[in-house]
Amino acid sequence: MLFLDTVEAVDDCFQGHWPFLSEEKAAHWRPVWTTYELEGCAGDPTILTRRSLLCSSLAATDDFTREHMSFDPDKVRGHCPACGPDRWADVMGHASRHEEYDLVWLHTDHRILQCRACETIYHQTDSVFSEDEICHTDPVSGEDYVEYKHKIEHWPSPIKRERPDWLHDLSEIDPSLHDLMQAVYVALDSDLDVLAAIGLRTAFDRATEVLGIDPAKRFGEKLSDLQDEGFVGLTEKNFLSVLTDAGGAAAHRAWRPSTSQLDTMMSIAEGFIQRTLITRAEADRLKIAVPPKPRRRQATTQKPVPK
Ligand SMILES: [Zn+2]
Repeated sequence: MLFLDTVEAVDDCFQGHWPFLSEEKAAHWRPVWTTYELEGCAGDPTILTRRSLLCSSLAATDDFTREHMSFDPDKVRGHCPACGPDRWADVMGHASRHEEYDLVWLHTDHRILQCRACETIYHQTDSVFSEDEICHTDPVSGEDYVEYKHKIEHWPSPIKRERPDWLHDLSEIDPSLHDLMQAVYVALDSDLDVLAAIGLRTAFDRATEVLGIDPAKRFGEKLSDLQDEGFVGLTEKNFLSVLTDAGGAAAHRAWRPSTSQLDTMMSIAEGFIQRTLITRAEADRLKIAVPPKPRRRQATTQKPVPK
């Protein structure tokens, strides 16, 4: 990747000259596009910003990697799926890909990382898109220069909400409900907020079915049945009503919950499932395990009759 520093260099470029390259090197560089435009930069609309001259040869890609994607080949910081963000990791493998689409390009570094703390292995991508540039002015020299925004992503996606301890136990009570909740957590991790909200309402629907509520009834009727049969009190019924309304708004009215709103929905759903299914099953097992009260002994001798 090269940057054109002056107006003259751009002019020369348009006329087929390469003042900034030796002939030997120019033979390996193929210009794909050039941009020659005046645009505002650092408050001076007459300044010509440096524009990139994209070259598609392998040498150009390597050069771009060196200039803009430089990182310590041994260690980088990444978002460990187990430990959290900004953790040192060893670089176990690395590959780059440079793609061109007419006038734009995308360069992506792929890295296989291993967390130095917990040894979890995960994938990091560092992408730069040709249109995502930020224009700066050097405070010392006064020269303008561009910097590319880096988009850092990880797989598996960083966990947005901790899974409750009882989630595995839910698979033994009802595998369908367990799978639904797993899908909700994956949607949360992937920032699919609308799908997570819809999934929560579906999970609540399944939970009521497991509790023996008629699945053909409407949500309002199911909530009344839950209260009538003693699964929830009035306060929790009102919370669950908000949950089902929010899920319905996401499904039918294009409503997108904020992160905090989704957190509230998760707390309501997790609390309901834990109390009515997990704790109830645990209470049943506890009841069996607790030794029964000893029976009161029956009297074997008759009380002496007072004379
Ligand atoms: Zn870790």
